[in-house]
Amino acid sequence: MIPPPHGGRLVERIASDAVRERRDAELGSLAKVHPFVDQLYDAEKIAIGAYSPLEGFQGPADVRSVLERGRLENDLPWTIPIVLPVPDGAEGAAVADLRSGDQVALLDGRDRALALLTIDERFRLDRRQLARGAYGTEDPAHPNVADILRQGEVAWSGRVELLRRLEPARGRTEPSPRELREEFGRLGWKTVAAYQCRNPPHTAHEYLQRVTLEREEIDGLLVHPVVGRLKSGDYRPEVILDAYDALVRAYYPASRVIVRPLGITMRYGGPKAALFLAIVRKNYGCGAYIVGRDQAGVGKFYDPYAAHRIFDQYDIGVVPLRYEESFFCRRCGWMASEKVCPHGPAERVATSQTRVREALAKGETLPSEILRPEVAEVLRRSDAVLTS
Ligand SMILES: [Zn+2]
Repeated sequence: MIPPPHGGRLVERIASDAVRERRDAELGSLAKVHPFVDQLYDAEKIAIGAYSPLEGFQGPADVRSVLERGRLENDLPWTIPIVLPVPDGAEGAAVADLRSGDQVALLDGRDRALALLTIDERFRLDRRQLARGAYGTEDPAHPNVADILRQGEVAWSGRVELLRRLEPARGRTEPSPRELREEFGRLGWKTVAAYQCRNPPHTAHEYLQRVTLEREEIDGLLVHPVVGRLKSGDYRPEVILDAYDALVRAYYPASRVIVRPLGITMRYGGPKAALFLAIVRKNYGCGAYIVGRDQAGVGKFYDPYAAHRIFDQYDIGVVPLRYEESFFCRRCGWMASEKVCPHGPAERVATSQTRVREALAKGETLPSEILRPEVAEVLRRSDAVLTS
């Protein structure tokens, strides 16, 4: 079935057209800040209900509870704090003078007022504690830890009201949880499996998706790539989406798979991030969630199967579909995993993203055991990867 949102009610804090016009007219008298882009994504996700039951950026009590117990103060499972470090500089009023109850406009990179924040608390953020509690490390080699350490030590909590959506990646609009839930209804899907990803698909990904589609309780598959802030070497969002579209067009029944973007900054928090990403997909209406090997991992920071085990510690109302590593086996002549193939590593064709990237960079043609030619064609575009 389509699960209810986390906490039971879908949060929607989006200004109507009339309210937005009024707010825009009043902007001149408000303090304005430019948050780090990650927090713009978060503000939007809070307001459209992707982070239900959160209605705003979290305060010190909730942050402590999340870090210490993996739960909100009200006991709902929640593993990654959603915080807003106070950005440097402001127009209209001195940021340091803003107090509880004051409103501040959150501007995007083009100075559009994306959302209004009503400040609840201004509090000191223990950045090392945040890094350790959410990511299990203070090592700045961890990308999210590096981001935390770069940001300020003071944060604002408070409710968010969205004035307008972020600009979509090259015309690819991003559905809200309400819109996606409605789409599932139109498709007649009751149990939807979400597939979290941040790269174009190779055959090991496709294998997990196919095995999922074979399960009788699954009506449809939502491929939901995270397309937030890019770093050098990342595939561009439209490339990931086009690559998936090519795969779906050529190899999947159109009535069973849809591809939609999710604009958030990826949290590489291993198990805690996997649980957080599953809760987000629950808010979008997915009752099942695919967890592969080393989900949301980075480097060697996490045990590759810790993301499987965390789902035993929490009941979030989403069925985890846990899969081990898959590969192409030359002896089997098929995609396989250790559950169904007795042959050793010598028979396996490595299907890693690294292998795909290296081959494409050298202009090599990859065998279809690793990469579908339709996908390869998209990835060979000259600007597929962000280089600067
Ligand atoms: Zn085999």
